Amino acid sequence: MSIPHIITIDGPAASGKSTLGSRLAQALGYLYFDTGVMYRAVTWVALERQIDIVDEAAIARLAEQLTIDVREPSHPDGRACDVLADGQDISWEIRRPEVDANVSPVSAYAGVRASLTAQQRRIGLRGKVVMVGRDIGTVVLPEADLKIFLVASAQERARLRYTELLSRGEAADYEQILQVILRRDQIDSTREVAPLRAAADAMVLDSDALDADQVLQKVQALVNRMREADE
Ligand code: C5P
Repeated sequence: MSIPHIITIDGPAASGKSTLGSRLAQALGYLYFDTGVMYRAVTWVALERQIDIVDEAAIARLAEQLTIDVREPSHPDGRACDVLADGQDISWEIRRPEVDANVSPVSAYAGVRASLTAQQRRIGLRGKVVMVGRDIGTVVLPEADLKIFLVASAQERARLRYTELLSRGEAADYEQILQVILRRDQIDSTREVAPLRAAADAMVLDSDALDADQVLQKVQALVNRMREADE
């Protein structure tokens, strides 16, 4: 087995996927690509344009027509990447609570997923990529050579999101965050198209029992074993 060129990281909301993904990509010199920002971008623009979130046809049309660019961060303000929708920088807007509250219904639409999955697959197949999301190992890049599935309790994930918001100087309510996370998990894992689940060949890591450094070390050890097996 050679060094993995396509690495996928899936898991529920706020399970530490983006921390692991960005650090792993940096260590390997790979592209880090967080697919959640694309679903968030469609949701933000739909809210901005006052498109009814229950209007599946209109939301799917928006996803098909919207140009979403994900680029290296242009500002040192803590963002992991720049996200542009039809040229407008919405890197922080997509993190707002109203996006959190509406992104899962938007992501459940088959038309939305078809448009975004095709774009993600094109990027992933170029290789040297760590791609993060809900269905990357199962649907977007099933041929990936290393698949990680992160799990953690909803309470721990809500606590992490809560401290992250406070550290950015934003108002946060733990109970409300927990409720939104539970609702997103429920919609993401029960939807008909590409539900959140671990691929049969994914390595499942429980980040309740491990801190971010330990999770990274475990995955790096796996990458090294794959590399050594090839030598
Ligand atoms: O990862 P993040 O929490 O930013 O994702 C936001 C939402 O986007 C998820 O709750 C999910 O509904 C959707 N999503 C998805 N498939 C992906 C990535 C994200 O359905 N591959």
